[in-house]
Amino acid sequence: MFNSAYSCPSCGAGVALRFRYSKITTCQHCQASLFLEDDAMKLRGKAAVMADYPSLIQLNTPFLYKTMQFEPIGHARFAYAHGFWDEWWVINPAGQGKWLSVDEGDYALEIPTPVNNPQLNFDQLTLGKKVSLAGERLLVSEIGQAECTGMAGELPEVIQIGDRFRYAHLSGVRQTLYTLEEQNGQLSLYKGAWLDVFAIRAMPAMDTLR
Ligand SMILES: [Zn+2]
Repeated sequence: MFNSAYSCPSCGAGVALRFRYSKITTCQHCQASLFLEDDAMKLRGKAAVMADYPSLIQLNTPFLYKTMQFEPIGHARFAYAHGFWDEWWVINPAGQGKWLSVDEGDYALEIPTPVNNPQLNFDQLTLGKKVSLAGERLLVSEIGQAECTGMAGELPEVIQIGDRFRYAHLSGVRQTLYTLEEQNGQLSLYKGAWLDVFAIRAMPAMDTLR
């Protein structure tokens, strides 16, 4: 499995990356927030300490979903009108990543997917509206604004505390779920599916994963 070693520019401790395309990580020794640029680790600042809530999902603790194995290697938290939700960047044993979104009891796995609709304008989305996206007719089931309030571990996107964006949840047939995000005019789309929370099982850390 991919594993690349760097030194923390703040404290000198070793920082190993688990995911090949990580853009940001935190030093486990001094909690500095670090980002990767030109194949070097650069200091971004101190990472905010996130309040710990009881969670089925824990950083660096592998879990099983049905027969699939995942390990959360990054975590970001976002505040929105109804409280907060967590996004976990999870990798499988082959080193492929997905986003696991956890909002109270709701779990969804999502992967980035192209926004193949040049006419799509976020400003025109309203609750209950139908839009064509990703080859499907989707219904806008939720729309709102969010702000990043914390991050830890490795993430495949540069996410900073204080980052604000607009989001819309869109639902298709057969339990498919899309999340559209808009930040500074840039649209990002994620395709996902709801998980059955009762099929998630914690598993002990396995050396074979590392
Ligand atoms: Zn450090």
